[in-house]
Amino acid sequence: MFDSLSDKLDKALHVLKGHGQITEVNVAETLKEVRRALVDADVNFKIAKNFTNTVKEKALGQDVLKSLKPNQLMVKIVKDELTQLMGGDTAGINLSGKPSLILMAGLQGSGKTTFSGKLANFLKNKKTKKPLLVACDVYRPAAIDQLHVVGEQIGVEVFSNKEEKNPVKIAESAIDHAKANGHNVVIIDTAGRLAVDEKMMDEISDIHQAIQPEETLFVVDSMTGQDAVNTAKAFNDRLNFDGVILTKLDGDTRGGAAISIKSVVDKPIKFIGTGEKMDAIDVFHPSRMADRILG
Ligand code: GDP
Repeated sequence: MFDSLSDKLDKALHVLKGHGQITEVNVAETLKEVRRALVDADVNFKIAKNFTNTVKEKALGQDVLKSLKPNQLMVKIVKDELTQLMGGDTAGINLSGKPSLILMAGLQGSGKTTFSGKLANFLKNKKTKKPLLVACDVYRPAAIDQLHVVGEQIGVEVFSNKEEKNPVKIAESAIDHAKANGHNVVIIDTAGRLAVDEKMMDEISDIHQAIQPEETLFVVDSMTGQDAVNTAKAFNDRLNFDGVILTKLDGDTRGGAAISIKSVVDKPIKFIGTGEKMDAIDVFHPSRMADRILG
């Protein structure tokens, strides 16, 4: 994960990691290299610049050069700031509803259906949760079938109605079904398009307004880099979603989306997808991710 970024940051932080004396000049040089590494990883230039400026201010504020272990302190400041940039604390999901409603949003191919299954499986394994998966894609029958396959694989019931063409009605019937059958979590998989369009946004906004979910989760493919961040912004402007799911982090992704999405939409990354299998899901911990990136 993020191998190229980690390598570049490792090289940039070489001096700070104890190889040589730390001076004002090499701190500035290091931060320039850090900025370059972030931009190469698809982090927006402005975000990368703000990041290194903050690190510099913190370093000055803590009088790093006069400290006992200046190198280690600098590395710690970089790590802490990277953690902050990715959201700081770990964000949980709100499961207070009776049943809890989770609405999945995102473009086609982002990994929505796969993630809906993974989340259902994750919650089911917690024993106190009995999830219901709901197929709300009224355009692609194959998407409904795909959710049924996923549901069968993990032993979770899937609610669908191929005759009904109004996704709001499907969602509402699914919630009634959940209440009648003791499901305490309802995960609603919605239609995705290849690009953001008004019709798609209207449709998901309608579902969102009608059911008022506790959690609206925006699923995005981390391999799409800067586009991931732009798409997140477009969805957030319409849906004011609660969290981001970053998928395909097992691939050859550069890391830009993971690092910058929080500062663009001000919503936390809640989970990551790390493979096609149903157990390839992890809660996103900003500090652990920063540790991984910085090695
Ligand atoms: P949807 O159109 O948004 O519902 O996307 P799908 O769930 O159908 O996923 C699209 C493709 O991405 C499928 O081939 C999935 O197996 C794959 N996929 C989804 N999540 C991940 C992931 O975390 N890692 C990898 N490697 N593949 C994934």
